[in-house]
Amino acid sequence: MSQPAVFLDRDGTLMHEVNYCRDPAEVRLFDGAAEALRRLRDAGFVLVIITNQSGIARGLLTVADFENVQARLLELLDGDLIAATYMCPDGPAGESGRRKPLPAMVHEAAHDLGIDLARSWFVGDKAIDVQCGLAAGTRAVLVRTGHGAGEDAAGAHFVAKDIASAGEFILSDSGAS
Ligand SMILES: [Mg+2]
Repeated sequence: MSQPAVFLDRDGTLMHEVNYCRDPAEVRLFDGAAEALRRLRDAGFVLVIITNQSGIARGLLTVADFENVQARLLELLDGDLIAATYMCPDGPAGESGRRKPLPAMVHEAAHDLGIDLARSWFVGDKAIDVQCGLAAGTRAVLVRTGHGAGEDAAGAHFVAKDIASAGEFILSDSGAS
């Protein structure tokens, strides 16, 4: 049976923006992020991180650096909240065809995990996150953290001040709060 998901951008959405973060010591969650994700997971949403990491193509970090940072993030989120992470290492040209705003990584997750996209959400701090969700058939929330303060919210179903407020909105929409 397919389940709803909340697809989550990582940098500037779950953790404070650090340009091309390669140091696990620099990972800092936004206030309320872990609690918001726990409540969404407990309400039946599968949580999936969808992240562009163009710093890899630019030579600013390695895949191993990404994995170390990701491991620290998952540790701060108490381990098992995130069901899966999909990462695109392409540069801005998006040579693989997976880079957001294209919906390829969301489709990979939906296939791998059995996700009902029509009942799912995408939450991110950039217009490309909103566009990615809409292209995949989810609803979308723009958060005003990270790069979000200056981003175009066109198409977003809700604009939230941060991930905690985005989580509350999704829970209230689903009747879970
Ligand atoms: Mg971001």
